[in-house]
Order: sequence, then structure tokens, then C-alpha cells
Amino acid sequence: MFDVVVVGAGPVGCFTAGRLAEEGLKVALLEEDEEVGRDVICTGIIGSAAFQTFPLPQEAVLSPIKSILFFSPSLYTFQYTSPENMAYVVDRSIFDKGMLRYAEEKRVEVRLAAPVEKTKLGQNSMEVVAKEGSLNTRALVLATGIGYRLHKDLGLATPHIFLQGAQTEIEMRGLRETEIYLGKDIAPGSFAWAVPVSGSKARVGVLTRNKARFYLERFLEGPLRQRVEKGSKIRQKPIAYGPAARSVNDRVLAVGEAAGQVKTTTGGGIFYGLICSEIAIQVLKKAFHKGDLSYRQLSEY
Ligand SMILES: Cc1cc2nc3c(=O)[nH]c(=O)nc-3n(C[C@H](O)[C@H](O)[C@H](O)COP(=O)(O)OP(=O)(O)OC[C@H]3O[C@@H](n4cnc5c(N)ncnc54)[C@H](O)[C@@H]3O)c2cc1C
Repeated sequence: MFDVVVVGAGPVGCFTAGRLAEEGLKVALLEEDEEVGRDVICTGIIGSAAFQTFPLPQEAVLSPIKSILFFSPSLYTFQYTSPENMAYVVDRSIFDKGMLRYAEEKRVEVRLAAPVEKTKLGQNSMEVVAKEGSLNTRALVLATGIGYRLHKDLGLATPHIFLQGAQTEIEMRGLRETEIYLGKDIAPGSFAWAVPVSGSKARVGVLTRNKARFYLERFLEGPLRQRVEKGSKIRQKPIAYGPAARSVNDRVLAVGEAAGQVKTTTGGGIFYGLICSEIAIQVLKKAFHKGDLSYRQLSEY
């Protein structure tokens, strides 16, 4: 019997599993993919405060962000430069693998290629049915990102609203700093970005209420046209826009994007997910101490 089974080995799931194991609990981490961090659609911007607060893999950092150039809808510019590095751009493949290593170092039992198909709440435990067999656990943490197929049966809500993210990695001339473009004709509901990664490589994307691919293509052919050298495939993914109404039930909590813990102004989910994960860990710790994993006890979260 495990104390906690964490489902989903994204950054938030790995951190949650590792921290719970560090607190002396017996933890398993189940991930449906065979490898973590493969083909993740993400700009990889993480605030420097996150690196100061959490044990994040420094080797994943590609470049620092110290200044940002904002473009108004009519392309007037405003530059903000910080005395310190505000954030870092990371390689999500290296980052996610580093987070998994953190969990493994804390002696979490990691199972890859283990999609969780369903869960059954019993009297004194929860049965977690994965492809390769079942596990019994006292508590379950869902860290499944935008995978919400387990939520309904567990009585958890999903976020109400999603924005659409679309991004491509391109070769771009003369991009010296992160550029942010605002305006309903550029990215209705949010913003567009061009982020230098290394050399002339840039991540260019939009976050919109709808038609993200259409707006990204228009962004590349419009304001950026003169500077785009070589494009690559556009990839899309929804982003939760605001927290789910209910992220707790008997023996279960959701963390990270599985609970809609995303900064609505930027679409950034890693730092907020980690902050909320630490809160979940404190709540679970107290619940284990009291021997009470009921909804009433966990609802402090
Ligand atoms: C275009 C775009 C740009 C973005 N840019 C940024 C950015 O710059 N900075 C930032 O902080 N955030 C960014 N985000 C958001 C960020 O990628 C997510 O918020 C973050 O990855 C959430 O982390 P997580 O650990 O909660 O979930 P995820 O990283 O999504 O991990 C969830 C894991 O759970 C696994 N899983 C799901 N269901 C199951 C199941 N049933 N059984 C087993 N495993 C399962 C998945 O395979 C996955 O590995 C961006 C998103 C998009 C779309």
C-alpha cells in the first residue's frame, strides 16, 4: 500500500511526488508517456523567483530574460529592463527530466508508460487502475495537466475556460530581447510573443480565445514578416484559464494545470503549479498526521 500515488510526471507531479517522499511518505508516480519532456508545447519561461524557491534543474536554462519590448496594437513600443534577470527560458525536455530525477532521488517509485485508466474509492484506501496493474494508496494526487479524464469519477471539477496556445520555433533575424504584442487583432483575449532562445532560434506564439493557428500565421506574416528566416511546424495546445471550482475530495487532490493553476495574465503554469503543490503537500502532511484524509480535512487546500 502506498501513502500517495501521484498521476502525471510533468514538473508539478514530479515535484509533488518528490516533496511528499521527502516528508517520509511512501510515494509512487505514474506517467502515461514512455519518456518525460518529449514534444512538450511550451515557451519555457520560468520566473527567476521560481528558481530561488524550488529545486529546479539549472542545467535546463537556455537564456536569461532581463528586458522585454512591448508592442501596442498600433506597434508603439515600450521597453522594460530589470536590474536583475526576471526569468529564464528553459529547454522543457531537459527541465522535465531534471524534475523526474529529483523525484527519483527522493526514492519515489516511478512508473513510466503507465496510463491511469480509472480509480475506485474504497473504505480505507483508493485503488488506482493503471495499464500494467492496480495499486492501492491512501491518497491520490492528480497532476495530469490538461488530461481531465479521471476528474469526473473522483468528483473533481475541471477548469471552465481554456485559451488556445499555438507556437512554432523559427530562425529569426535581429531578435535581441523578448517581444510581447498586444491587441485584439493580434491575439484576442491575450497576447503574442517572440522569445529568443539561442543564436537566431526563437519561440514565436500566440495565446487567444480561438483560432490560434490563424492568428499565429497572421502574426508571422504581419509584424514579424521581415525578420522570419525559416519557419517550422505550428503546434497547438489549450491552456486552462483560471482555477477549477473543486480540486479536493475524499482521499484526492488535484495540482498544477489539472486544477487550473495557471497565471491567467501569461498562461504560465509551472511556477503557480509548484506554489500550489507546496500548499497541497502541507495539507496532506497534516491530514496524514491526523489520520484523516476525508474531504472535510483536505478542503483546507
Ligand atoms: C503554447 C504554450 C506555451 C506555454 N508557455 C509556458 C511558459 O512559458 N511558462 C510556463 O510556466 N508555462 C507555460 N505553458 C503552460 C505549461 O506548459 C503548463 O502549465 C505546465 O506544463 C503544467 O505542468 P503540469 O505538471 O501541471 O502538467 P503537464 O506538464 O501537462 O504534465 C502532465 C503529465 O500528466 C500525464 N498524464 C495525463 N493524464 C495521465 C493519466 N491518466 N495517467 C498517467 N499520466 C497522465 C501527461 O502525459 C503529462 O506528462 C505554456 C503552454 C502552452 C500551450
